[in-house]
Amino acid sequence: MAFIGLEANRLRNFPRESHRVRVTRRQRGRHLESTQMRTTAELREGFLSFFEEKDHLCRPSASVIPPADDPTTLFIVAGMQPMKRWFLGLEQAAAPRVTTVQKAVRAGGKQNDLDDVGLTNRHLCFMEMLGNFSFGDYFKDGAIDYAWEFITERMKLEPERLWASVFAGDPELGLGEDEVAIVSWERYLPRERIVGLPRSENFWQAADTGPCGPCSEIYYDLGEEHGCGKLTCGPGCDCERYLELWNLVFMEYDLAEDGALTPLPKQNIDTGMGLERAALVMQGVDTVFDTDTFKPLLAWVDERADQPYGSSPDMTKAYRVVVEHARTAAFLVVEGISPSNEGRGYVLRRLIRRAVQFGRRLGLEPPFLYELAAVVRGQMGSVYPELEERRSEVAELIRAEEERFRETLARGEKLFEEMVVKGEITPDDAFRLHDTYGFPWELTKELTAERGLEVNEEEFTRLMEEQRERSRQRSAFDVDIKISASAARTQFVGYERTDVLTAILGYADLGDGTFQAKLEQSPFYPEGGGQVSDAGYIENEGTGARADLIKATRLDHDDQVLTFSGDGFGEGMRVRAVVPWSVRFPTMANHTATHLLHKALRDLLGEHVKQAGSAVRPDKLRFDFTHPQALTAEERERLEHGVNEIVFQNRPVRAFVTPIEEARNLGAMMLFGEKYGDEVRVVEIDGYSRELCGGTHVRSTAEIGPFVILSESSVGSGARRIEAVTSGEAFALLHERSRETEQLRAELGEARKQSKRQPAKAERGEVAARSEEEIGGINVYVGRMSDVTMDVLLAESDRIKQERRPAAVVLGGSEDGRVHLVANFDRSLEGKVDAVAVIKAAAAEVGGGGGGRATMARAGGKDPAKLDAALERAEEALRAALA
Ligand code: ATP
Ligand code: MG
Repeated sequence: MAFIGLEANRLRNFPRESHRVRVTRRQRGRHLESTQMRTTAELREGFLSFFEEKDHLCRPSASVIPPADDPTTLFIVAGMQPMKRWFLGLEQAAAPRVTTVQKAVRAGGKQNDLDDVGLTNRHLCFMEMLGNFSFGDYFKDGAIDYAWEFITERMKLEPERLWASVFAGDPELGLGEDEVAIVSWERYLPRERIVGLPRSENFWQAADTGPCGPCSEIYYDLGEEHGCGKLTCGPGCDCERYLELWNLVFMEYDLAEDGALTPLPKQNIDTGMGLERAALVMQGVDTVFDTDTFKPLLAWVDERADQPYGSSPDMTKAYRVVVEHARTAAFLVVEGISPSNEGRGYVLRRLIRRAVQFGRRLGLEPPFLYELAAVVRGQMGSVYPELEERRSEVAELIRAEEERFRETLARGEKLFEEMVVKGEITPDDAFRLHDTYGFPWELTKELTAERGLEVNEEEFTRLMEEQRERSRQRSAFDVDIKISASAARTQFVGYERTDVLTAILGYADLGDGTFQAKLEQSPFYPEGGGQVSDAGYIENEGTGARADLIKATRLDHDDQVLTFSGDGFGEGMRVRAVVPWSVRFPTMANHTATHLLHKALRDLLGEHVKQAGSAVRPDKLRFDFTHPQALTAEERERLEHGVNEIVFQNRPVRAFVTPIEEARNLGAMMLFGEKYGDEVRVVEIDGYSRELCGGTHVRSTAEIGPFVILSESSVGSGARRIEAVTSGEAFALLHERSRETEQLRAELGEARKQSKRQPAKAERGEVAARSEEEIGGINVYVGRMSDVTMDVLLAESDRIKQERRPAAVVLGGSEDGRVHLVANFDRSLEGKVDAVAVIKAAAAEVGGGGGGRATMARAGGKDPAKLDAALERAEEALRAALA
């Protein structure tokens, strides 16, 4: 976790959002001819201007690092993700319709396409996702209409090659197939090219509870020659024939903890189309790697490799992995990520090392990837200026990692030579090469094969498994101590100092560019007592070598061991050890604030409040406590005020060590179930609170600055969690909030002006019932809405049908002189009454026609004056069929 702090810190220097996709105004608003939509750049631009023409607000891509309040994925994996707060209704969307091209990374974490790169025609780690979004505005019909218009009229794809998938229904959710989507698609596609897919494929939910809904995907048939030839082959098949191009998500339900679905008051649309896949189709090539984006990258490799692109499937894969990872690595470095052994840094390290390994198969010796990353900049720097701005970081970091890996490889090869002298490579050898020296298993295998030998792979895998099991069992507190036990104890000096000159007492190389060390004196706070490990570094001022602290680990008797990434260090060396103030200070502020919060909670809610856990980091604090119910808004406010009051009183903060009995007499708060020694450290906030604590604290409360609560939530039964920020983070948050308020005020003013100009449209959901009766055990509902789109009418008919199960619903409404009619029946009515017949009878009255399926049909008409007559016809038809 320490690393996250460091990363967040570095990030502060980077723009949070990359620059808007650069497009000149002149290009905007002008229809692009299909011939102008061949290149990736034209597609990117064509997509945005198409949706701008349809009144969408074009927004820049957000960073690929998710916002702090979204820990669900390591990277942004879809266009909707940066807008989650809008989708969840936590914040007002910037506009009802939005369009973006979002940078996305699917590598590491849950959404991981890394192993598919080079194996399939369509998977990349880094991609650009084209998206259009509706917040309570258009729904299924609108989303399908726009998607269809874009792909058939702008991209000019042959309709015969297009397929759609819809949600097939799920008994556990109590949902049937998505009939609204089916009849909507039937306006464009024959029924046999609309296929149902199960919940696993075509139902979207962000979490176990909350907004969710069915999806509908658009597939492009690449042709029989790409298929598996099976009879069952179709969209959703594992083979490469049907390319998933675009996913439309219909957010329409709220999923409760007990699994019940209720329709959302406002339905949203979220769509995503991979830009590279769209380019594949437009350029008539076989894979995303053969599109214009990757051409210069492949050509660069081709010039240097000892085998041409396409010479064999293995070589082709190697080319693709190298160019893909060079691109992804460049886009990660510009976000402030550097190679490390944790989290996003680890993904970056893995990508670079994997690219180097595949490059070597082509005869490329590292460092080479950093040069290829410069070709990426040439290709995409005009759209993503961060590639230009961070060009030197990209080159330096990638190159340094390549060199580190080259050394690892060289050392591994040397060791291998020494091991192989005995005539074999045992599984133990291979394991040691991998585990201790970071030498890749595939290379051991290759080198052994070159000598006509073989390693027992099964045994090697077993050793790897054992190792994994060991690290799973290892708790957060103990690490494998590789340093000899005789190394003396470290003196922790971090309460007083953040910068010391000291010496390395013990040293052990962990391979993989990391090492473990013990210092004579250490300013680094080791993880414990809820406070995360400090971040920082050591440096040798003579040689200039520097290593970043990955983690400080607490050992018995206040001892500690440190894990670093870097090299150029060894036992006995004198070093300078530094915790940057920008890391330590906010951590101290957050820790003291946690004590204030603890005391304020007990004062406000009562003595039953017990600390149940905490996490103190540089960027925020978290405090879990026992309390049976959620805080009211008023309690929350009083709590925030209470803490800030003590902050403004600027009370001195002191720490002292005392016998445990004495601490008890002083009434210091202790954690239940925690074991304490005879002597304990007490942190006292003058005249306010005393708590046993080993953490680092500010010297007086005013240093904390503003204290702002981010959230209050449940963590299991009887426990609550508060997250809060202080000092600089709190100020940034307050500033952001006031900016948003200003913006909302401006938008509100604008909306008021507009509403004076135009008469308001009928509010959503105002259905006037014409008749509501039970006939033969069926709830028959016929109603009308004024000034309504087909989308809303469909959604309302679904809602009414679900509320009155089993129901037969017919709704009618009009919009700008056109009539819309919907018949939406419970599935059990199939065979009893035909929705198509009912809707046709009604539509005849308003001079129109329609169609659909037995339980779901829709129609249009031209004569709004006759709407009531049409609905009467529907009533008659229903009575006749059901009575
Ligand atoms: P697939 O089944 O092909 O992996 P997916 O179901 O994971 O696709 P979604 O999560 O629905 O895809 O993402 C929306 C769109 O983003 C897809 O329709 C596709 O165009 C694009 N996309 C998804 N994953 C990738 C990837 N790894 N590389 C390039 N484009 C992708
Ligand atoms: Mg996928």
